[in-house]
Amino acid sequence: MSARKKASKDPSPFGRAATWIDNATDGVIALQSELVKRNAVGPLNGGPGELEKADFVEAWMAGQGFPPVRRLTSMDNGVPRPNLVVILPGRDHSRRLWVMSHLDVVPPGDESLWKSEPFVLRVEGDKLVGRGVEDNHQGVVCSLLAAKALLASGIEPEFDVGLLFVSDEETGSLHGIRWLLDHHRDLFGPQDAFLVPDAGNEDGSLVEVSEKAILWLRLKTLGKQVHASTPHLGRNAMTASAHLVVRLSELYQRFDARDPLFDPPSSTFEPTRHEANVPNVNTIPGEDVFYLDCRILPSVSVEAVQLAVREIASEVSRQNRVVVNVDIIQREDAAPATPPNAELVQRVIRSVRKVYNVDARPKGIGGGTVAAYLRRLGWPVVVWARQDETAHQPNEYVWIPNLLGDAKVFADLMIGEPPPAPAVVEVEAEAVPAPEAPIEA
Ligand SMILES: [Zn+2]
Repeated sequence: MSARKKASKDPSPFGRAATWIDNATDGVIALQSELVKRNAVGPLNGGPGELEKADFVEAWMAGQGFPPVRRLTSMDNGVPRPNLVVILPGRDHSRRLWVMSHLDVVPPGDESLWKSEPFVLRVEGDKLVGRGVEDNHQGVVCSLLAAKALLASGIEPEFDVGLLFVSDEETGSLHGIRWLLDHHRDLFGPQDAFLVPDAGNEDGSLVEVSEKAILWLRLKTLGKQVHASTPHLGRNAMTASAHLVVRLSELYQRFDARDPLFDPPSSTFEPTRHEANVPNVNTIPGEDVFYLDCRILPSVSVEAVQLAVREIASEVSRQNRVVVNVDIIQREDAAPATPPNAELVQRVIRSVRKVYNVDARPKGIGGGTVAAYLRRLGWPVVVWARQDETAHQPNEYVWIPNLLGDAKVFADLMIGEPPPAPAVVEVEAEAVPAPEAPIEA
């Protein structure tokens, strides 16, 4: 559809790759369309898994002249969960820049909220709509595009570039990156670095380098159910719960450490879900259940938070003559942060400024991503993308300019530092006229 090819006067490797990417809009739409129609919902979410999508991505790379693809498949109760690995050789083989995206998607959810078929790409001007277009086709498409731009322009990356298309990101990564780390650790070298294009913000300024720990607690208060007209005969579990909810806000004072990487810069302790208790107005509930969502800074002990919750709960239970049970629903301890001054972080910031003219900053987030598995093993990981964060929502969408821009950021990272000087030597050699007589030494 692009009427005229966009030309560039920038002869640098980045300029050539960027020009190639600028002319790839039709290819981007075609790729997204092929990816969206291959439903890759994982078996745990009732879907067929990633096989069909992995077949497509592998065939696409073969057709585009990529180096051979390695397929590493974990079996999940008879369902193959393929992971694809391809290496573009660089000038320096001592370390690799990995770009890791995932093939699986989450189910559409309530389909009545979708304005069109979730598994059929809808194109609305610069906007692409469909399940998975952002999470994580944006990562898949941009890494394919960046690598293809380098191949098509004859550009050798600075270091080896590894593209990793993993399965099972949405349901725990047991057959994806965690399986690769358990069974194929030799893929990864100690000097490697990882870019995970699976979260970000609208202008691309969020370079995620750290994540808070997650602790979800279920607090169940047991009193005695009676008729509402005779409260003196029972023990109101909901009143006790309410006291407990208020008392738990003390956690903010007890664990008041701050870390400016994060927004908000402190740990958070928020009561969230409350289960239905009695269905009628004239009964005093004998049982009440609510949940506490804690996002804990890496510097704060999750153990200490749990102890504090139990201590507060036992005080409330004594004062209200109820029993309080505290159960852990989920606990994911924080991985060590990737240092904001790590080379990868600084390179991402530089590339984002070059492509988008945006001053990106290293930041921490409250949620957990797959980066944690890699950071725990000591690798630097940056989670970055420029996107509106519509993942998992109905009418999930991405902007074509962000797909092209992110691909340029990846291409710039892959190109890295320009090769040292041989070009200058060649120019000089050509400029010097061939000697007519042998020059004496
Ligand atoms: Zn994702």
